[in-house]
Amino acid sequence: MAGPIGTDDFSDVAIIVVAAGRGVRAGEGLPKQYRSVGGVNLLTLTLGNLARAAPGATLHAVIHPDDRELHDAAVAALPSEIRKSVVAPALGGATRQASAKAGLDHVATSDGRHIIVLIHDAARPFVEKSLISRAVSAARKYGAAVPGTMVSDTIKQVDAEDLVVATPPRANLRAVQTPQAFNFHLIHEAHARAAAAGVSDLTDDAAVAEWAGAKVHVFEGDPGNMKVTTPEDFARAEARLIADCPDMRVGQGYDVHAFCPGDHIWLGGLRIPHDRGLEGHSDADVLMHAITDAILGALADGDIGSHFPPSDARWKGAASDIFLRHAAGLVRARGGLIAHVDGTVICEAPKVGPHRDAIRARLADILSIDIGRVAVKATTSEKLGFTGRREGIAAMATATIRLPPGGKAAP
Ligand code: MG
Repeated sequence: MAGPIGTDDFSDVAIIVVAAGRGVRAGEGLPKQYRSVGGVNLLTLTLGNLARAAPGATLHAVIHPDDRELHDAAVAALPSEIRKSVVAPALGGATRQASAKAGLDHVATSDGRHIIVLIHDAARPFVEKSLISRAVSAARKYGAAVPGTMVSDTIKQVDAEDLVVATPPRANLRAVQTPQAFNFHLIHEAHARAAAAGVSDLTDDAAVAEWAGAKVHVFEGDPGNMKVTTPEDFARAEARLIADCPDMRVGQGYDVHAFCPGDHIWLGGLRIPHDRGLEGHSDADVLMHAITDAILGALADGDIGSHFPPSDARWKGAASDIFLRHAAGLVRARGGLIAHVDGTVICEAPKVGPHRDAIRARLADILSIDIGRVAVKATTSEKLGFTGRREGIAAMATATIRLPPGGKAAP
């Protein structure tokens, strides 16, 4: 129902997620915003939590020009309802300030309905609805506002020789976070003026607003809204994710497809040459079907047939990664994690071993989890039964997922 815009109406809000940094401080080769936390890409986590906290808002990531594929993979891992609120990314500049400006220019050209803009760091994934509500309210009221927390350490100002030159009273200090929240025109204009004046090294958007003469209000931040930068931060973030998802579930799946004439089969998303094919409504990927059912089982949310009825012509010949991606999206839509999947393929031929790691990599990619969380095993049935008689292939799987408390069966 349409009505006046209140605290929890985000339809006039754009959220810029600054993700253009090259930060490699956390040790691995990838920029930190694309590294995995508890099996989930950091940018995926941040975008998902923002979208859940601000339904109706549009999300604009600002990325490094070299990172388009990484960005697209991070977005592809989001549940489909959330993906809809993520628009095509803007390309960042040489400094954080230039990247934020690129994001604002991008919002300005996307459409005219945005009154409020939040500018958020991709490296702060644990953003909660209450913080977003405070940010949007403060921006509506003051025009420029930043979340701040009380400082518990005494802060010393030092000179170039590390000699203390001042001890500002702690009561007057705030540690400032993101999202920083603004009237869109105020901050867009402030950034344009700063860029035109050659001011380029301001480290947050409040500093840009301050430079332009705006009064910036500090509202209550959230101590849980941590910034993930160092390897220790990644470890803390993973522990936090696991603590947020105490409801551990194990689901199982089983599937069979019969051989038919053909020259290849699909197994775990891989096309494997064989002297027979597999019969089925979709691509008959028996392993992917078993894993999909295992995930749906862990969610207590029906089975592959109830989500993708064979009576529906849309799924005829479908590539089964659609089914698996959908099941993984359902876990993420509930704020959950896929901890592990484990599949066993039962057949006399073809040999699965030589393809094992390629299948694991493909499944990990579709599920958007680390390959270390995907197991694929194979066995024969010693020539016994239908698999032993080479009449078809069977597959079994388990999926272990973690959900937030109160995880209930889907309606
Ligand atoms: Mg099947």
